[in-house]
Amino acid sequence: MKHGKVFLIGAGPGDVELLTLKAVRAIGRAQVLFIDDLVNREVLQFAQPNARIIEVGKRGGCKSTPQAFIERQMIAAARRGATVARVKGGDPFVFGRGGEEVQALRAAGIEVEVVNGITAGLAAATSIGVPLTHRDLSHGVTFVTGHAREGGDAPDWPALARAATTLVIYMGMSNLDSIARALLAGGRAADTPVAVIQNATLKDQRELISTLRGIARAARAAELGSPAIVVVGEVVSLAQPRDLAWLAMQAA
Ligand code: SAH
Repeated sequence: MKHGKVFLIGAGPGDVELLTLKAVRAIGRAQVLFIDDLVNREVLQFAQPNARIIEVGKRGGCKSTPQAFIERQMIAAARRGATVARVKGGDPFVFGRGGEEVQALRAAGIEVEVVNGITAGLAAATSIGVPLTHRDLSHGVTFVTGHAREGGDAPDWPALARAATTLVIYMGMSNLDSIARALLAGGRAADTPVAVIQNATLKDQRELISTLRGIARAARAAELGSPAIVVVGEVVSLAQPRDLAWLAMQAA
């Protein structure tokens, strides 16, 4: 029997309207869907009514499905001839372990197609009117994880502090205090503007603007938590109150 194909799909940050047309089409072709817990379930409106939906939570702290188990299940489904959609939050190749899954699938002889999604860092910044680069303010942007693998290398915060480009930090909320301190120690100015955006593009989005010196305390006081994006850099000075029309559209 011919093996089925696996689509590794980025579902974007939350707002279902941010799905690409390619993602919608791939979701609609699948007989089996493996869905991560950060994915807005509204994407399932594009699935076939009789498709099998398998929830595979990966969120730190909660009960999560081991990576190897997910990979084995996908391989087994594809070997049975099913078209498989592996649906991940944001973009599958940005802190999504998409690279590992592609390697595992290819090693098993399964065809994979990766469909980009809008990564949370992009959407979070845009939702508050912040351009990640700007000719007057920032000549580049670095996407970095704030959550180093246990025993693994942490990001080089002093080097990132010196680089003076915009920093977009994923999974940084539990270490926000030490990240801010490391950037200050590395020489970033204490009054550098910082934004935290939680649940970006979803109805319950919350955001906070402060400075590098004040952000950890302010985020604690506001009880902001995961999933959130932290944006550090002068571009954050361009933040705008969220567009009310956009919010109204979300609610409609
Ligand atoms: N592949 C995803 C990232 C997965 S890592 C992407 O490209 O967006 C998980 C982290 O992404 C979270 O800890 C958080 O930092 C960020 N994240 C995902 N969805 C988010 C959202 N709607 N709002 C804010 N941050 C989000």
